Amino acid sequence: MIKTLEKIFVTQPMLPNLETIQEHLKEIWSSKWLTNMGSKHNELENKLKDVLKVPNVSLFNNGTIALLVAIKALDLPYGSEVITTPFTFAATPHCISWNGLKPVFCDIEPETMTIDADKIESLITPNTSAILGVHVYGFPCDVERIEKIAKKYNLKVIYDAAHAFTTEINGRGIGTFGDITMFSFHATKLYNTIEGGCLTFNDPNLVKKIYNLRNFGIQSEELVEEVGINGKLNEIQAAVGLENLKLYKKEQEKREIVKQFYNENLSKIKGIRLPKMPDNTTDSYQYYPIVIEEDYPLTRNELYEKFKERNILTRKYFYPACTDYECYKNDLAVKLADLSVVNDLKHKVLCLPFYGSLKQEELEAILEVF
Ligand SMILES: *Cc1c(COP(=O)(O)O)cnc(C)c1O
Repeated sequence: MIKTLEKIFVTQPMLPNLETIQEHLKEIWSSKWLTNMGSKHNELENKLKDVLKVPNVSLFNNGTIALLVAIKALDLPYGSEVITTPFTFAATPHCISWNGLKPVFCDIEPETMTIDADKIESLITPNTSAILGVHVYGFPCDVERIEKIAKKYNLKVIYDAAHAFTTEINGRGIGTFGDITMFSFHATKLYNTIEGGCLTFNDPNLVKKIYNLRNFGIQSEELVEEVGINGKLNEIQAAVGLENLKLYKKEQEKREIVKQFYNENLSKIKGIRLPKMPDNTTDSYQYYPIVIEEDYPLTRNELYEKFKERNILTRKYFYPACTDYECYKNDLAVKLADLSVVNDLKHKVLCLPFYGSLKQEELEAILEVF
């Protein structure tokens, strides 16, 4: 029997207790320091170093501006090519394009759905300047192989870790791989500052560069050295970030229970594939993606519609692929590229509702749809 339930969303934002935010607001109001690297902002930056296990953190007003600045900070030659994945959110290739660079789309690996390290080398030309990988759904890119390729061809490496908050490989923070890594703290991400994000990096020489690029390139009252942007996170959002730092572990624990429920029940269903996290890698619990294979009775789109009829919202993440966008699809390189895995998986993936407060009866209702 199908029960009628309230709408089940694909995610719900983590929200701190309102009273704790009111306390922060009182402090902000009396200090009259609202933005521009205030005390809450700096406290959050320091705390995130421990949480993400990285030596340097630069906070931003959103992940997209952070990624724009990451690419800018590496001084890649204007018009050069950056090899990236089309199996991601629009922000990833757009940040390459906004820097006056050319995104070159590489196919993905079928299990982790991240950029396929085996296919990167064939795309390298004398104009290639960097590789931009995405730890999609929190699955890590093959960071070791990518590092080797980058060394061999003298390329920079940037990672979009918007889905990979607190992910670790062999106990090492995912934000320590490559030259610069971006995290997003948007409301739909596991950890949020409403809107926000950060960059993490190992090279201490990048600290000042990124600090300046984030603040219009202003070095001092009378010295503007670079073409910067406004990437500053304000004190109110930093306060939300400080309070949410107290909550994210509990949320991840609750999502682990949801994940186990899904794993146990869905692994028994023929035609439903559950992509596996590599060994020695911790889950960020950002998404719960499944792959609807050809031997399942319904297509992904049919299953999506069936969920929708029952008031359950799932997401066809990532459909369309970035290579299907109007602004990229007519590029000759896109037309000629081997994107066979992307073009297969984009019709088969579905992200199920995934958040800590999902109730048992809601989980049962989701399971009944299969
Ligand atoms: C959310 C997201 C971004 C953009 O982050 P914002 O903070 O929303 O600007 C970039 N890349 C990926 C893969 C994302 O999911």
